[in-house]
Parts: sequence; structure tokens; C-alpha cells
Amino acid sequence: MSGNHDHERSLLDDALSRLQDIFDRLDVADDVRARLAQPALALQVGIPVRMDDGRLEVFTGWRVHYDTMRGPAKGGVRFHPAVNRDEVTTLAFWMAIKCAVVDLPFGGGKGGVAVDPKKLSRLELERLSRGYMRAVADIVGPDRDIPAPDVNTNPTVMGWMADEYDAIVRCQQPAVITGKPLALGGSPGRVESTGRGALQVLDMWARRHDRKPEDTTLAVQGFGNAGYHFARLAHERGYRVVAVSDSKGAIFDAEGLSPEPIWHHKNESRELKGMVYCEESVLCECDRSTAMSQDELLALDADVLVLAALEDQIHADNAGNVRAGLVLEIANGPVTSEADDVLASRGIPVLPDVLANTGGVIVSHLEWVQNRIGEQWDEDTVNARMAERIAREAERVMDRAAKDEVSYRTAAYLQGIGRIAEAIEQRGTAS
Ligand code: GLU
Repeated sequence: MSGNHDHERSLLDDALSRLQDIFDRLDVADDVRARLAQPALALQVGIPVRMDDGRLEVFTGWRVHYDTMRGPAKGGVRFHPAVNRDEVTTLAFWMAIKCAVVDLPFGGGKGGVAVDPKKLSRLELERLSRGYMRAVADIVGPDRDIPAPDVNTNPTVMGWMADEYDAIVRCQQPAVITGKPLALGGSPGRVESTGRGALQVLDMWARRHDRKPEDTTLAVQGFGNAGYHFARLAHERGYRVVAVSDSKGAIFDAEGLSPEPIWHHKNESRELKGMVYCEESVLCECDRSTAMSQDELLALDADVLVLAALEDQIHADNAGNVRAGLVLEIANGPVTSEADDVLASRGIPVLPDVLANTGGVIVSHLEWVQNRIGEQWDEDTVNARMAERIAREAERVMDRAAKDEVSYRTAAYLQGIGRIAEAIEQRGTAS
């Protein structure tokens, strides 16, 4: 999954390689370069979990604060077999950039556990979630580091972690974690927020390019929480979703797929692959669909390739196959820096992760605010506040890209790193 398609270098080295050009363009102080070269704090933990059969299994987990100059660390917790320290550190780095791009008062953090959660029973998953929180509790807190959902974690997992934290500190601290169930102080709109925000960024791009949703086809890699809600909302808006994939396979229909029945089917069978062979009536809306490999999806001649799975999906070896006219990054880091150069040389713009997937963390911030003032807003209020922030910050990025004739990613990094650099400088030079 993560890693080394382009070189032997690590994911973090690849991510940091994008910074040199940004530092030079912004002419930042040496202090800033030195601070951002490594994470502020990286904790590795062993998490003992009593399995249902009585065995004790010890899982490895991490929590990393990459940078906290603009506020407490913020970022999700990922449960995936391929999670490792390099990946968590890199994801924490991207969180720092994205929070700054949309001007949230947060730094960047991330957590993860190397585990295949699909192999755990519900009780084992609860014990692991609580064990993780116990292991990292010393470095989290509403003013220190605020976890949230990420790949394979969800409101239920956040609820268990929130409950465990309350038990550890012996008081109620809902603002320690976001993406909670509504009953525990979660925010309306949080579950759909990443997909909703990404659609708003795509809409803004489409308006600037006189493109109508009805005339725009989308191929969506990844059908988890972010990819599904994006596809559903895009379909409602009139875009034609011609292909979707998950980790097992992809399906394609030139006439357009209907994301909702696909999602319900996937939740029953856990994968898309069976769909094309399945004759059940729930599939009636997509019975024209055909199976396709995930690689074929990446090379589809769609207007927009939407990457909503994992990092490192478009790399030096396959960037030349991309035929879409635009890439939209909903996952974190799905395009390597070398692939970025290939796409740029082929005239394929990329709406980058650090702008396009900020809807999730923006609503996480709104959840944290609601928890701190003891309120729960309605969904329209939350969505409107998110939309306002994305509109403002994405306009800035898109204007800057046009004015300076740079990529959207470079423009977003200039905005984010510029703000982080200012905070580092304002904190002073004595250390
Ligand atoms: N995991 C999400 C992300 O990568 C959300 C993080 C958050 O809400 O803190 O942006």
C-alpha cells in the first residue's frame, strides 16, 4: 500500500520533497525549514488486547504530532494492516498542511494501529479502541491533540475512545475527540463532510471552467465513507459516476451508476466484486454494469479521476496511463511527487488532498467548537459554516494558482506553509 513505488525513499521523504520549492518561493526563515523537517512528537505503543478465544495479542500503534505551532494536533486514527510509523508520520504532516490551508486553529497529528479490523469481532474491536486510547492518553486532550476517524474507523470507534478517555481523566471531555456518535456530542453532518467538501471544491473548479455536472463523468477509486458520500452527492448533483472501485474490484457503467444501491449491497457482502455476478433486485439500477480491474479504472477515459482510497495510488509507473482530464484527491497523498510531475507535463491538473478533503476536518473543528460551548447545532448550520470556509479558502488557492501560474497543489502549499511559517516566526526565536 504505502510507500515506495517511485524510489526506495520513504513516504515521508517523498512528501517532504515537495517543500523545498515552497520554502524557496516563500523565502522562509531557516527556523521554519528546521522545524518542519521532522515530527514534534512520535509515540509508538504496544496495545494488549484479550481476544475472544482467551489469547493475548499485542498490536502496534502510533500517535504522531507533526507540528503544533498553530494549535493542538488534529487528525484521525487509522486501523489498517499496512499502517506503520512512516505512514502515520506522513499523514500527520499532511494534516498540519491541510489545517493551515483552510485556516483552522490546529496543528497536524495522526494515529494508527497495524491491524486488519475486519478480522476482529465487535468486542475485540472495542477492546482495541479502548486500549489505543489508554496507550496514547498522555499526549491527547482537547487542547493538546484531538483524534478523529480515518480509514476503517468510524463514529462507533470514536464513541468507545471518548468513553475510555472520560474514564481515564474522571470527567467528561467530549472535545478530546471528533467524529463521535450524535448521542455523545458528535456533529450533524460529520459523516458526509469529507465527500461534501470535496464535491464543493469540484463544483468550484467546474464553474471556473464552464463545465456542467451533466456533461462531466467521474471515475471514483475507493468506496469507503469519503468515496461513497462523495459519489452519492455528486450523483444527486447531476454528475455521471461511471465507475467505482474498492479494494477487491471495480464496476463500470457508461450510462452512470447509482451509488446508493451499490453501497447497500457492499455493506451486505463487504465488496463490490460480487455485484456484477449478482442478480439480486437491489442491483436492478446497475445491471448494465460490467466488472473492471482497479488499474483499468485508474486509466479510464472519464472527465475526472477521483482518488478516494489510500496514498501512493498514482506513481511514476502508472501516471502515464491516466486519461482523465482532472484528478480530484479525496484520499490523503494518492499521487506521489514524481507522478505529480508526470501529470503536470501531460497537462492534467490535480485538485490536491490538502484542499479537496478538508471538509472532514472542518466539520471536526465545528464539532470541537460545539463541544466546548456546550451546544449541538443543526445540520444546515454545520453545512453552511463548512461551505463558507471552503469557498473562501479554495477561492484563494484557485486565484493564486491562476495568478502565479502554479499548480493547485503548489498554491495550496504556499497558503498553508505560509501560515505555519508565520506562526513559527511569531512564537519567537529563543529555544
Ligand atoms: N481523517 C480525516 C482526514 O484525514 C479527518 C481528520 C479529522 O477530522 O481530524 O482529514
